[in-house]
Amino acid sequence: MPETLVTTVMKEFGQDPFFILISCLLSLRSRDTRTVHVCRTLFSKIRTPQQLLEISRVELEKIVFSLGFYRQRAKTLHEVSQIMIDDFFGKVPSDPTSLRALPGVGLKTSNLVLGIAFGVPAICVDVHVHRISKRLGLVETKNPDKTEAELKKVLPQNLWTEWNDLLVKLGQNICLPRKPKCRSCPISGLCKTSSNY
Ligand code: SF4
Repeated sequence: MPETLVTTVMKEFGQDPFFILISCLLSLRSRDTRTVHVCRTLFSKIRTPQQLLEISRVELEKIVFSLGFYRQRAKTLHEVSQIMIDDFFGKVPSDPTSLRALPGVGLKTSNLVLGIAFGVPAICVDVHVHRISKRLGLVETKNPDKTEAELKKVLPQNLWTEWNDLLVKLGQNICLPRKPKCRSCPISGLCKTSSNY
């Protein structure tokens, strides 16, 4: 299966929390293929929050333009960088409360960064994880935040961080939103709704 965004970013740029956080912020409401392209352009110019702030707002808007919402994205990246410099010695905070207080960072992003960048067990629930966890019959929830809380009760902790990567790959290639390819699914035997598709 193709790599997910975060896996690609880590392979190309290492496990630096700053790169992981910025790539997660850029990935919100955009396709992974486009986000990877923008990350390559941006990360070829910067390695730190200070360097990101040295890029003018206009130039940053041009770099992220193809992702849409380019003004808001550029503003968020500058604000997050400024806070990291002012409050966290230029580093990504590693505690959940400080991380979630950063502009643009919700539960999904903070859990992805905590799990991948800091090794803190955390379940990142995006649309794929939410949809497939329900189809598998692990949860019966109506929104991702509730799914995260319910999954923590049923998944062993050593699977929490990996769960997102596994289900994003499955969701992008096999367990598609409208027509899941159940006959090709490696976990169809474990799935509560397999026979319905
Ligand atoms: S069996 Fe079908 S519905 Fe269940 S996880 Fe696999 S693709 Fe999705």
